[in-house]
Amino acid sequence: KEIRGDELKVLDELGSGNGGTVSKVVHEPSNTTMAKKTILIESQSPIRRQILRELQILHHCHSDYIIEFYGAYLEGPHICMCMEYMDRGSLDRIIRKHGPVSYDVFGQIALSVLRGLTYLYDVHRIIHRDVKPSNILINSKGQIKLCDFGVSGELINSIADTFVGTSTYMSPERIQGAQYTVKSDVWSLGITMIEIALGRFPFADVEEEESEEEGREDDLTLNANSTLSPSNATRPRASSRAGTTIGVTQGVAMKQSVKTHAPKKKTKGVMSILDLLQFIVNEDPPRLTKFGKNAQDFVDKCLIKDVKLRPTPKQLLEQNLIQEALKKEIKLNEIL
Ligand code: ATP
Ligand code: MG
Repeated sequence: KEIRGDELKVLDELGSGNGGTVSKVVHEPSNTTMAKKTILIESQSPIRRQILRELQILHHCHSDYIIEFYGAYLEGPHICMCMEYMDRGSLDRIIRKHGPVSYDVFGQIALSVLRGLTYLYDVHRIIHRDVKPSNILINSKGQIKLCDFGVSGELINSIADTFVGTSTYMSPERIQGAQYTVKSDVWSLGITMIEIALGRFPFADVEEEESEEEGREDDLTLNANSTLSPSNATRPRASSRAGTTIGVTQGVAMKQSVKTHAPKKKTKGVMSILDLLQFIVNEDPPRLTKFGKNAQDFVDKCLIKDVKLRPTPKQLLEQNLIQEALKKEIKLNEIL
């Protein structure tokens, strides 16, 4: 049975990102706690209905490593998506609160994310497209699940119409405008793994001085024809989440506000977004110098710059880190 907006009672606000805001709600008829994501869609109603249709595939996604989907509906200019509520929240929050994860948790997260990605790709030919700590959720049963994957092409387009997210979890080939493949997700996983092992974004080392608690607004003049591919964006927006996100407006050069922030502790200011994107494309990938060989090898494999040589999620399941994680019984619920 379809969920209706008037059946939901809002309990709490869970946070917001570039795409929308997320609230904790209870679906009163079934007495189920859910997370409701509200996304503003500026497109016409045929497009909105199309998105709603495309989202229906989510009803067929069932995996221990993927957030359950309960339904979606239109509300004014918004699309609301109701999904499984994960009571320990996302990995970015967990590392902000508890600091870096332990080696055992690190292994479990790698294992769960790879199983989630493999499920999405092998069963539904879905590429996640947005692997990062805020899209990996934990619950008190100790489960680790993926959310916010790109199922609806129209939804991706509609968000991109108002906003082009160029996240710094993005692979070198994506920065250079190549097609998304499941291997782009592997790169993002590599960056994510370093971040949760260190408790901070891996590129923070390359940041320049200047300090401020929450990061700073950075005014840049961008040329849309440079590293970033031009888009038909109309309303640039900035993000204040971990990593960096940039909005690009169509046209020649424009002023763009970019905000970067490294979780919790004082940040040392930021490298400009374009410097960072260029750094990702031109320099050696970051490496993990913690947790020993298996973890290091794993991250090295994820961050192979040549897409042809980079493994798929399924191939990565063969890595020693994963084989080792499989043998351990970790009570994640007691750790996180
Ligand atoms: P971005 O928009 O850049 O992808 P984000 O992933 O942080 O960033 P949202 O997807 O809007 O932004 O999520 C906002 C926050 O809500 C997340 O950081 C997460 O902590 C929380 N959240 C999202 N989905 C759930 C869920 N199903 N259960 C519990 N918390 C959730
Ligand atoms: Mg998200």
